[in-house]
Amino acid sequence: MRNINNTVSFLPHFAAGKITQGFGRGSKELGIPTANFPVEVVQNLPKEIDIGIYYGYASIDNGDVHKMVMSIGWNPYYHNKHKSMETHILHKYGRDLYGSLLKVCIIGYLRPEKNFDSLEALIAAIRKDIEDAEQLLESPENLKLKNHEFFQNSDNVISNDQNGHKTEMNGHKNGLCESETHHNGTHVKENN
Ligand code: ADP
Ligand code: MG
Repeated sequence: MRNINNTVSFLPHFAAGKITQGFGRGSKELGIPTANFPVEVVQNLPKEIDIGIYYGYASIDNGDVHKMVMSIGWNPYYHNKHKSMETHILHKYGRDLYGSLLKVCIIGYLRPEKNFDSLEALIAAIRKDIEDAEQLLESPENLKLKNHEFFQNSDNVISNDQNGHKTEMNGHKNGLCESETHHNGTHVKENN
């Protein structure tokens, strides 16, 4: 296992939104489909977040929570002015999920984004990311986040804040989106 800095201060970060079409880079053909969030969800990422590869948990349409790896990068569609969030869920759905509600909890950072000399090298790196994520996401501390109420709310509500106040999800052109980051145990909510 690599030496992984998984204690980024602004993580975990929770986000939800409807899956949009990606850039058609053929991830699915490589056996590693990545579900894309609409730009409004990406804009709610903590400003300090580095681009690179992250790990955490994800669910589709409030279904079972699975492990995931996520690439946060620059979005070519917006001339690299906006970031992109591409989530590969470690579960075989065997169907397209466009328009489905994707919920993620980003827990830790795995590695910076890199350029690879070959497709084989890229795939090998992703396989290694998945292996690391599989292992890290078995820790009792991380498993608590798998069972977080964020994933259990299915009544169109993302999460409760500290006062138990429920926050409705916002409707957006590109789907529902909202995100939240915990700073040292304090909930900081950003709506858009
Ligand atoms: P796109 O360029 O549109 O993102 P991809 O080749 O990356 O296309 O495939 C991503 C799509 O595959 C997702 O939007 C989703 O609909 C579907 N999909 C199926 N299984 C998964 C999975 N395990 N993780 C992520 N996306 C998945
Ligand atoms: Mg994709």
